[in-house]
Amino acid sequence: MKNKALAVIATAVITATSWQVAAKEQPVTSAQLQNQAVLAVDWVQQSGEYRALAYQAFNVAKMSFDHFKSQAKQDNSKEKLAVVVDLDETMINNSAYAAWQIKHGQGYSSKTWGKWEQAAKAKAIPGAIEFSKYIDSHGGTVFYVSNRSETNLKETIKNLKKLGFSGVNDKTVLLKTTTSDKKARRSIITDEGYKIVMLVGDNLDDFDSKVIHKSNEVRRDHVNAEHSLYGTRYIVLPNPTYGSWEGGLAKGYFKLDNAGKSQVRHDALNAWNGK
Ligand SMILES: [Mg+2]
Repeated sequence: MKNKALAVIATAVITATSWQVAAKEQPVTSAQLQNQAVLAVDWVQQSGEYRALAYQAFNVAKMSFDHFKSQAKQDNSKEKLAVVVDLDETMINNSAYAAWQIKHGQGYSSKTWGKWEQAAKAKAIPGAIEFSKYIDSHGGTVFYVSNRSETNLKETIKNLKKLGFSGVNDKTVLLKTTTSDKKARRSIITDEGYKIVMLVGDNLDDFDSKVIHKSNEVRRDHVNAEHSLYGTRYIVLPNPTYGSWEGGLAKGYFKLDNAGKSQVRHDALNAWNGK
């Protein structure tokens, strides 16, 4: 009896130990990590709700532009009005690249992303082409300010022109040269005599450089403090598949291995306790 009891305890200890070890050290493959994004990519590609939000954003953006335009007229302002839009997941949809990552278990890499940019196969976000035409035909100028690499400027312009975006040229498309902070590129526009009345993007970094590389707590507080600017000066498109918010989950997040990233993602969940 005593021996049996000891055997049970020993088994329990071994089981507990091996479970703990397994929980701590079980590797997470790249395929498993990529697979965590499958529902988000399905939502972008398949749901009517995603399209509805995109149309909603651009409908609001048009109304807001009209407001800024009539305000400028009232003020007798001679300033040229500019609207700064981001590209990826704001005007163009790269979800086919995200879907490729899931299907092939591949994390993001500048090499595969560069190949995707060069293929010029991004699709338009619902409402985006019409919005660019609306601004350019109602007294404004659209500037496409994106953190795509300037080495792929030619292919990006080709992609945008093929889709039918308005006013696309090497003066209006400002890609990344040295820094992903868009402040300097916004200054190029204002130095040309434009007043930037609105910014359209899928990432808080597109609106205000203050939040770049900040935690989600800081980013949320920033949004709370400036909430009246959303839907007026700032127009946000939904992007549940990637963004600075992912890096905002933990300090040094993008340097973590697959298991580390997966752990951070799960630790970030605010869960019901079941009662
Ligand atoms: Mg973007």
